[in-house]
Amino acid sequence: MALLKCKECGHEISDEAKACPNCGKPQKNKPLSTSLSKQITIYFVSLFLPPFGLWYAWKYLEKGDQELRKIGLTAVVLTIISIVASIWFTVALINLVNQSLNSINLDNFQ
Ligand SMILES: [Zn+2]
Repeated sequence: MALLKCKECGHEISDEAKACPNCGKPQKNKPLSTSLSKQITIYFVSLFLPPFGLWYAWKYLEKGDQELRKIGLTAVVLTIISIVASIWFTVALINLVNQSLNSINLDNFQ
């Protein structure tokens, strides 16, 4: 359990509190999970559904907590890797298709 600051008055409150005990402001932000299963979900989404990984990354980076930021940064890195891999794969595929087309053309001319 970590302490959060109330967005309204800055009073320190438990991340499990539903409302600020000082000013009564409802705390809608549910604490972000750092459980392994949650991390695996985030990393999976980052790798295979790149744009959505950034949504998680933003949510985790925004919190400022070191543990959460680490998860957020990992999600960003995985998203970048995924995008680079997609581009690389697309370029490799285009090259392969071009090569196939070239060899077909050569066959026709010979
Ligand atoms: Zn408050």
